[in-house]
Amino acid sequence: MIEAGMDAVRLNLSHGTLEEALAVHQRVRTLAAELDRPVGTLVDLPGPKIRAASFGRDGVNLEDGQRVRLEPGQEGSTDEVIQVDYPGLLGGIEVGDRISFGDGGIDLEVTDAPGDRLEAVVRHGGSLTGRPGVHVPSERLAISTPTKEDLRVLDAFVEAGVDMVALSFVRSAHDLRRLGTEPHPRGPLVVAKIETRSAVENLAAIVEAAGAVMIARGDLGIECSIEELPHLQKSIIRECISVGRPAITATQMLESMVRTATPTRAEASDVANAIFDGSSAVMLSGETATGSDPVNVVATMARLCARADANFDVEGWARLVSRLRSGAQNGSGHRDRRITDTMTDAAWRVAQEVGASAIVCLTRTGFTVRAVARYRPRTPILGFTPDERVRRQLSVSWGAMPMALSGFADTEEMMREALASARAEGHVRHGDIVVVLAGVGRGSRTTDVLRVIEIA
Ligand code: PEP
Repeated sequence: MIEAGMDAVRLNLSHGTLEEALAVHQRVRTLAAELDRPVGTLVDLPGPKIRAASFGRDGVNLEDGQRVRLEPGQEGSTDEVIQVDYPGLLGGIEVGDRISFGDGGIDLEVTDAPGDRLEAVVRHGGSLTGRPGVHVPSERLAISTPTKEDLRVLDAFVEAGVDMVALSFVRSAHDLRRLGTEPHPRGPLVVAKIETRSAVENLAAIVEAAGAVMIARGDLGIECSIEELPHLQKSIIRECISVGRPAITATQMLESMVRTATPTRAEASDVANAIFDGSSAVMLSGETATGSDPVNVVATMARLCARADANFDVEGWARLVSRLRSGAQNGSGHRDRRITDTMTDAAWRVAQEVGASAIVCLTRTGFTVRAVARYRPRTPILGFTPDERVRRQLSVSWGAMPMALSGFADTEEMMREALASARAEGHVRHGDIVVVLAGVGRGSRTTDVLRVIEIA
């Protein structure tokens, strides 16, 4: 999969044990080292993810209109009594609430809540096997995210040096702060999964507090009406791009490829449209976790992305980013942000006008790369950083080629080293023009150097 184009690996702790996930993490590290590729690792904390007690391997079939009973429990589920592994089930749910299974294909409506159980009618039936996820409206949940178990898992993965951590069912920026990790790159890049109504309402504050964002379309498509989903996807991505946070579009992108060798036409269009919407990264889930040909899925996804990138309307997009930026500035008016915005806007324009061969970024935290990548310049972005973890965190930033730098020293020295290495690796040649961008001044969240250099 790495050779087929996989840039980062998500380890979803909703499935399997912590030990299994840590072993996969180690295997990714070993393979990436062998292949000399900065593959990012992302641990996905399930949050208050609720599951049904097992329906068994063969499963059951629920018919439309059928009546079922729901109760808290872990022993097992049948087509008459569904046990839900959530002790608070009876306290929160009200008559009229929708309860969904899996990614929302199977839907029940609660008709009675007498106190010791819930009675429900099947609105949309289907078959259920194993321990499917149970979606109850997030505002009914008495447990917040991260859970104690999330924090235990996070500790183990921080110890293992994971690059990114995603938090599920985020409702406010405060949820992200409760992770208690060190700011990246000393700690992992924190990815906020947007999949609740509250997260959509508190989006600006969540995006500001997060290192990156995932549009978790599976749960989001259940929490909000399905016809809202394409529009939410666009508005969430725009919010991220205006402040330079990578946006990862996720779930069911090539779902049919779990079983087939080619995607549906609608899926191919979905991937291309996610790129046109401005996604920094696109994610695969079941297609690679349990699908029949993960390598083929990754290769297909990579081809779809490359083709969509080739057709991307860079000028139209840059106009949009400038407009979004000025919108974002009106509220906060941060001076540092204005400096970064102006410098990165100038950088891609200069690169385009003078036909530069590369935009060379010198970055301590990845901030400068993320800030210029949001313009989607046609000129390749080379992101030089001394920090191995930053290199791997850049794996979810659109278009950036992560490159190694021996240390963060004097600006002139770093430029010399970066240009020599870009030349040695064949990215630039004698006589080429390159645009150099760096954040070397006050703090790490400003891009304050822009230089145009001819390669000697
Ligand atoms: C989603 O809900 O779309 C998602 C990415 O989260 P998970 O895979 O954990 O359900």
